[in-house]
Amino acid sequence: MSGILAGKRILITGVLMESSIAFHAAKVAQEQGAEVILTAFPRPTLTERIAKKLPKPAKVIELDVTNQEHLDGLEAKVREELGGLDGVVHSIGFAPQDALGGNFLKTSFESVSTAMHVSAFSLKALTMACLPLMPEEGGAVVGLTFDAQFAWPQYDWMGPAKAALEATSRYLARDLGARNVRCNLVSAGPIGSMAAKSIPGFSELAKVWDTRSPLNWDMGDPEPAGKGVVALLSDFFPKTTGEIVHVDGGVHMMGA
Ligand code: NAD
Repeated sequence: MSGILAGKRILITGVLMESSIAFHAAKVAQEQGAEVILTAFPRPTLTERIAKKLPKPAKVIELDVTNQEHLDGLEAKVREELGGLDGVVHSIGFAPQDALGGNFLKTSFESVSTAMHVSAFSLKALTMACLPLMPEEGGAVVGLTFDAQFAWPQYDWMGPAKAALEATSRYLARDLGARNVRCNLVSAGPIGSMAAKSIPGFSELAKVWDTRSPLNWDMGDPEPAGKGVVALLSDFFPKTTGEIVHVDGGVHMMGA
C-alpha cells in the first residue's frame, strides 16, 4: 500500500457522525495507507455504524477520555489489534450547555471544570495512555483546536478550554521531544458537526467566515481539516512540534 501514511498504525478518537472531523481524518488516513483503530464515546454502536462508511474496516474501542479505567485498559486492547501505534488523533471537545451561548459571566466552575477536563486535560491523558504503544523511533499526536487567540461570539468557556488545549500541546511537545514524539494541532475553521450544533448561536460565529475568509470556506466540508491532520501524522513534518497549523481558509491572519 502506498501513501504518506503507508505502514503507520493510527488511533483516532472522535468519530461520531459523518460530519465529524475525525471521520474524515480516518478516511484520508486509510486512503493514505494507514491501519486505523477508532475509539468511541458515548456508545461504540454509533461509531461502529459510521465506521462502516470508511474505505476499510476499522476496529472500535470504547473510550471515555475522563474514565481512568478506560484509559488504563487502552494499551492492551490496541496492542492486541495493531501491536503498537505510530500516531494518535485527539478530536474531542465538550462543554456543558451553561458554559456556552452567551452565558460566560454566569457559568459555574463545575461546568468549566468539565469543559477543561474533556477538552484540554484529556490531550495529556490520551497521549500518556498511548505512549507505551509508540516505538523507539517515536510517533505523532495531533489534536483539533478552534483559534484560542480571540474571544468569539457564543463560544464562551470553550475558548479558555481551547487555550488550555493549545498550551497543553506545547508542554507535551516539550516533554516528549526526547522520545521523538511530536505533538501538533490543526486549528480548523467552523464545521457543522454535532459539537458545533450543540453551541447555541454557532451560525453567528460561523458568519465571520463569510466575510473574512480569503479562501472560500464550506462549513459542510470537514475534509480539509482531516487532510491537515493526516499531513501532521505523516513523516512530512519530521521536525515540527508544538505547532498549530491553521486550516481555516486564512481567517487567522486577516486584519479588519
Ligand atoms: P463531533 O461532535 O463530531 O466530535 C466531537 C467528539 O468528542 C465526539 O466524537 C464525541 O464523542 C467526543 N467526546 C465528547 N466527550 C468525550 C469523552 N468524554 N470521551 C471521549 N470522547 C468524547 O465534532 P467535531 O467538530 O468533529 O469536533 C472534533 C474536534 O474538532 C473537537 O476538539 C472540536 O472542538 C474541534 N473543532 C471543531 C470545529 C467545528 O467548527 N466543528 C472547529 C475547530 C475545532
